[in-house]
Amino acid sequence: MKISFPSSIAEINLDSAVLNLKEIRSRSAGKKILSVVKCDAYSHGAPQISKAIEENTDWYAVASVDEGIQLRMSGIRKPILVFAAPGYETAAAYQTHGLTASVSDLSHFSTLMDGTSYHLNFDTGMGRLGFFPEDAEEVRRMAVVNQRLLCRGIYSHFATADDPGSAAVAEQHERFRSVLSHFSEIPLVHMSNTGAVVNYPDLDHFDMVRTGLGMLGYSSGSTRYSWLKPVLKWTTELAQVRRIKKGTSVSYGSTWKAPEEGYLATLPVGYGDGVPRTLSNRLMVWIDGEYYPQVGRVTMDMMMIFLGNKKLPVKSEVHLLGGGGWNAHDWAETTETNVHEILTNLTLRVGRVYLQSRYSEN
Ligand SMILES: *Cc1c(COP(=O)(O)O)cnc(C)c1O
Repeated sequence: MKISFPSSIAEINLDSAVLNLKEIRSRSAGKKILSVVKCDAYSHGAPQISKAIEENTDWYAVASVDEGIQLRMSGIRKPILVFAAPGYETAAAYQTHGLTASVSDLSHFSTLMDGTSYHLNFDTGMGRLGFFPEDAEEVRRMAVVNQRLLCRGIYSHFATADDPGSAAVAEQHERFRSVLSHFSEIPLVHMSNTGAVVNYPDLDHFDMVRTGLGMLGYSSGSTRYSWLKPVLKWTTELAQVRRIKKGTSVSYGSTWKAPEEGYLATLPVGYGDGVPRTLSNRLMVWIDGEYYPQVGRVTMDMMMIFLGNKKLPVKSEVHLLGGGGWNAHDWAETTETNVHEILTNLTLRVGRVYLQSRYSEN
């Protein structure tokens, strides 16, 4: 459905994405950058983000062939790595759209079509996709035999880099280095995600780092870094303001009752827009320099805030996420999830507005 009258707006600052990438590049010793724009760039809009950063990234990555096709259709020409395991259904699309496959199983050598580029994916401890290190020699033989495919890189993925001080990061790194001893001629080696870059500054990041969340201005764990600037600000407006009596109960389950007489405002956003229901009675929102508590259960399309004795006008601007309000780390900590999930939860109901101070050349 086309949204003509969005009830909330995600304002996306494309300049901030570029600045975050420049910081990440300088903090990872000038390595190449692969920008991860899967899941519509964590709800920020993959085509818009990808275009804005084109001069500041070397590679892109997406979760699926469909996401890769979307980038190609929006004019992205740089290489695009697809993380998913390739299958017979998608094999031709890698060819047609010039997408780089992730080869993570011996069967993929026969699945892909002649001339398809790929990166080898090794599982050094993530336990998700990839060859196990002990199979390195067999994988090498298959890669050599299958000259009809073009091996352009090799990668692995950290399981525990989100926070500093994990011994498993060094172990995985070491395991990957032993894998690499079998593949000395592969030109592009990458392993580090945002967490590895921001939390492990002394790590050898090989040839390239992969960043999704960092580009969007957040670190991936609970450790926050002020040099990352959140790209997204989510705002809405007060839809209705009513005076309520002491003891008035609010929303499903009547979990909140007014402790005193005052003003109750209704906001036109709810969990159907991406406000976690688990933030009910916990979230604080920002209006014109003041914080106000969200009260009662968050509903699908609306939620309430208590203004106390402040009678704010209808249409007053509310910062839900970013700006003066809580940021995605605050939302993630309060709901015991990660920032990635908070951001990907924003739905298509939320209008997107893009800010860019400079004109790009193309
Ligand atoms: C999602 C993903 C990333 C990006 O993670 P961030 O924490 O957003 O930097 C990197 N590599 C792989 C394999 C991924 O799946």
